[in-house]
Amino acid sequence: MSESSSVESHEWKKHYSDVMMGSHAAPLAMLERGSGCHVWDVDGKRYLDFLGGIAVNSLGYAHPVLVEAVSRQMATLAHVSNYFATRPQLELADRLRDITGAGDTGRAYFCNSGAEAMEAAFKLARLNNGGGKRTRIIALTNAFHGRTMGALSLTGKAALRDPFAPLLGGVEHIDSTLEALEAAMDDTVAALIFEPIKGEAGVVDLPEGFIVRARELTREHGALLIIDEIQTGIARTGSWFAYQQYGIVPDAVAIAKGLGGGVPIGALVTFGVASGLYQQGHHGSTFGGNPLATAAANAVLGEIERAGLIENAQRRGAELKNAIESIGSAHVAEVRGSGLLIGVGLTSPLSKDIAAAALELGLIVNAANESSIRLAPPLIVGDAEVAEFLDLFTKALEAVR
Ligand SMILES: *Cc1c(COP(=O)(O)O)cnc(C)c1O
Repeated sequence: MSESSSVESHEWKKHYSDVMMGSHAAPLAMLERGSGCHVWDVDGKRYLDFLGGIAVNSLGYAHPVLVEAVSRQMATLAHVSNYFATRPQLELADRLRDITGAGDTGRAYFCNSGAEAMEAAFKLARLNNGGGKRTRIIALTNAFHGRTMGALSLTGKAALRDPFAPLLGGVEHIDSTLEALEAAMDDTVAALIFEPIKGEAGVVDLPEGFIVRARELTREHGALLIIDEIQTGIARTGSWFAYQQYGIVPDAVAIAKGLGGGVPIGALVTFGVASGLYQQGHHGSTFGGNPLATAAANAVLGEIERAGLIENAQRRGAELKNAIESIGSAHVAEVRGSGLLIGVGLTSPLSKDIAAAALELGLIVNAANESSIRLAPPLIVGDAEVAEFLDLFTKALEAVR
């Protein structure tokens, strides 16, 4: 640690509130570096990170494969604008067609964040208007799709939406039940949009049969099925995409968080006839798909394959779920989610206290809402990290009465 760091650690909270816009909560710590599944703050305190930058740091911190790929690309060609094509961009489009199951009919649109991928999805839904007859977009209550105005219009949380009314028209939020789905779907629906597991809502699974029925009903009525896999995608839930666990393909999938392993990148991949909706001039992004970001994503996808991280997500996810249940804490009501996206449902609204106790002990977990703890560790977690997590999480649960 440098001499200035202890002074800095006293000052950073005030410095932050002096210079940063008040849109985020006060930061939990000021971090300086990371390696593997651990980060260190400016005082040199070490944390095991089971949030992973909110499901972003697929390969953990400072992974040599990602560091090498980004450094090499930066030194070769970082950005060129979409007046030009680059090899990393086309390689990533090929890889995404392959891993999404879109195959030869797949088309990729690149952007820089999840919200932007959802903006592209929103515009895709508008393009599926069936000559003016399909005017409705169906989304789910409690869904999270991002903070820009289009993405926010799809987001189903009043607290996030209300300050920014009026939002975009034509979006209806229905309850996540088969009955509500059946009642909402008809030939006036342009698109049905949902997360296969609601991440920001606290890792909440959809009801049994919902995803398969959604595919049937959208097909029957000519509506697009657009799946937001921004949080669940890129091996997070134990398959490349969560929808693959239901034997379906959507008409479009939105991707971001884990794709670049920390380098900002988002994508919308369309399938089949939906790939013909966007025409020249309909959409664009200055940074979207630049060689730096796409080289990072290629490195992440290559390493997930090489190191068997899909299998690791399945195996470690199952281990963690079982182990959390067998702690037998009175605080724990249920354990939700799939693979390495896990929600711990609490018996009382103590998530902030438990997350704070964990942080004190050197473990980062996320209080997704007042009675849910969210875990989204790097996909590289192994025996040592699982054991360290269980020790610290058990202590954090015990520390809160
Ligand atoms: C994080 C997230 C978004 C928004 O992504 P940003 O990169 O923060 O804009 C959208 N949908 C889901 C499901 C997310 O988890």
